[in-house]
Amino acid sequence: MDKIFSLPELPYSYDALEPHIDASTMEVHHAKHHQAYVSKLNEAIEKHPSFAETMAGKPEIEALESLLSNLDAVPADIRTAVRNHGGGHFNHSFFWKNMKPNAGSAANVPQGECAVRIEKSFGSFNAFKTEFTKIASGLFGSGWVWLAGNGKLFIMSTPNQDNPISTGARPILGIDVWEHAYYLKYQNRRAEYIENWWSVINWKEVAKSLENSK
Ligand code: MN
Repeated sequence: MDKIFSLPELPYSYDALEPHIDASTMEVHHAKHHQAYVSKLNEAIEKHPSFAETMAGKPEIEALESLLSNLDAVPADIRTAVRNHGGGHFNHSFFWKNMKPNAGSAANVPQGECAVRIEKSFGSFNAFKTEFTKIASGLFGSGWVWLAGNGKLFIMSTPNQDNPISTGARPILGIDVWEHAYYLKYQNRRAEYIENWWSVINWKEVAKSLENSK
């Protein structure tokens, strides 16, 4: 049987986010870490052929969303594996799309309705950026920080590979603050990684996720 889940190609090359995120980090992160989440998710799902059957032929992101938004429906013996590795697969697929090569010297900021929504929710883009950065810098252990939506917009963090979807909210923008996301280049300087990550956010993609969160 074909594998249900597969590693998506990056929408750019491993070195495309240099100098903000280095090629070595991107390669290990995508080809090793993300691949491992995909492989272990498949291994778990394959233990339950009839459950796997319910996902066959569905677009992967849709299948992942249904798994993560209703973990109670997952067979108990693979629930933790699906939560961790399914979350890892979803989060990383989302993360790659939420970045793009830095377009140049102009400030990389949201435009249009996305900018207006962020201003309305947080006072200003800078206030949002400051608050998001503070939470991402201070998150203890491994996890993610999100701009999430459930009608209104808010910042939340999740431990491990959890995603806002499992709490009934939609992810709009997310940063991976696991050490594997930055340690090769930044070592313990997480704040510097976060600061540089703002330069490579794909705000067009964020705007699409915002639209989908309504
Ligand atoms: Mn990661």
